[in-house]
Amino acid sequence: MATDTTNDPTPYASPTARQHHLSTPNAIVLCGALIALVMVGLCALVLYQGRLDALDRARDTSRNLALLAERDIERNFELYELSLQAVVDGVARPDVMALPPKLRNDVLFDRAASARFLGSMLVLDPTGRIVIDSGSLSPRQGSFADRRYFTIQRDNPGAGLYISSPYASRLREGAPSIALSRRLSNPDGSFAGVAMIAVNLEYFHKLFAGLSLGPHGAVSLIGRDGVMIMRQPFDANVIGRDISQADTFKRFRASAEGSFIDTSSIDGARRLYYFRNFPELPLIIMVAEGEEDIYAAWRRRAIIIGSLMGVLALGFVTLSFVLAAQFRRRMRAESELQLLARTDGLTGLHNRRTLGEILDQEWRRARRTRSLFSLLFVDIDRFKAYNDAYGHQAGDDALAAVAHCIGENIRRPADTAARYGGEEFVVVLPDTSADGARCIAEKIRKAISDLAIEHAGSEYGRVTASIGLASWRPELDVDVSALIRVADEALYNAKACGRNRVMQPASA
Ligand code: GH3
Ligand code: MG
Ligand code: MG
Repeated sequence: MATDTTNDPTPYASPTARQHHLSTPNAIVLCGALIALVMVGLCALVLYQGRLDALDRARDTSRNLALLAERDIERNFELYELSLQAVVDGVARPDVMALPPKLRNDVLFDRAASARFLGSMLVLDPTGRIVIDSGSLSPRQGSFADRRYFTIQRDNPGAGLYISSPYASRLREGAPSIALSRRLSNPDGSFAGVAMIAVNLEYFHKLFAGLSLGPHGAVSLIGRDGVMIMRQPFDANVIGRDISQADTFKRFRASAEGSFIDTSSIDGARRLYYFRNFPELPLIIMVAEGEEDIYAAWRRRAIIIGSLMGVLALGFVTLSFVLAAQFRRRMRAESELQLLARTDGLTGLHNRRTLGEILDQEWRRARRTRSLFSLLFVDIDRFKAYNDAYGHQAGDDALAAVAHCIGENIRRPADTAARYGGEEFVVVLPDTSADGARCIAEKIRKAISDLAIEHAGSEYGRVTASIGLASWRPELDVDVSALIRVADEALYNAKACGRNRVMQPASA
């Protein structure tokens, strides 16, 4: 007998319409999880794209700021250079030098000399002393022979325009400055001194302070030799520092312009660096935005969107689990209901309706495959008397016990036992010969008798059953109803021959 023993309330009825539905709840969960995964994946993709965009925007901003600052510095330096060249040219003209000091200074130093961030414009003699001073008609005292902007012009006739590293001005109370210098030469080419302009670093300070770069941003102007000229945020200790050995600076020198993310050698913050080497001047401008600032807005958005999406996805998965559980419950209820509809309530065996279906199905299969087919008709002996003597409830108990006996004694999956009605049962035995069926019938008969249920009204003193057997071979051209009739007749014979026995027609 086919028995699904795991969760069947009725051990002798076999569930059939269950297997192919089992995967549906799992499919719901899988679908839910897949949709949630796609949602999360799409969200992650969009957020990642947003992160890349933030970086691109920051790079553009840095580039624009660097370009603006570069243009401003270049334009100013061009003017300083022209002024310086005017001094160099003027000094070479004897007629200019012969003018009275006031007029000579007016000719040599144009209005640019009074520009806001210009320190002094000086002409130094070969010993480094001031001979002409834009700030005073009687040149101020002091030797500048030790300054690099002086020595480099003295020692290198071809030095051209020199831009110095920052230094503390001696004429302007130590104001941090850089100098632009040019060599003055005698007609024979020998060293005649130096013309120089001092530019107050305040100019760069003001220029950079106006740039908005976020709390962790930085902008620096660095000499191509690696000396820091100005840095924003401003730190007096950093001005003049040699950073030529820093990895970041080495990268600034590696190409004309570029950007990269690195950790600052000055304050240890991670930044996106954008740098440009000035095309005409030995200067490098670097604009850096703190990584923290670049992603701050993105991060805020990502946290909100990410968590919303996470909750949504989780909700989706939970919903699919709930849906699957509900589906499973409904399926279980349905299959239980179906089982109930197919089962006899008292005995747990198939009911008569199900027997009809199974019989029909097995009979057709037997004919198709030309296999053997047997049928047992089991009827409890003198059961009316039992009921009368022991009561209806005891009768029911005895019926259930007998049904259990029948169920226990059929073993093959295809074997089926059903309650035919009242105290009668039918056992369908596909692929079973008459001998095999007889053997099973005998086992059932003996097992019922061995239950030893007292039955005073029976000639055997206990509950017994008579069994009629009918068997079919492919050669026999009969119908299933005929076979039932034969089994019924055999049962009748068993009753007539004294009950508690198995009978089969002589021909079977
Ligand atoms: P026989 O040996 O010739 O088969 O005699 P019998 O009394 O068993 O046969 P009969 O057909 O005269 O009686 C069948 C009895 O089975 C009638 C009824 O009291 C009893 N019966 C049928 N269905 C049920 C049931 O569901 N519960 C109980 N307790 N008794 C039932
Ligand atoms: Mg009967
Ligand atoms: Mg009977």
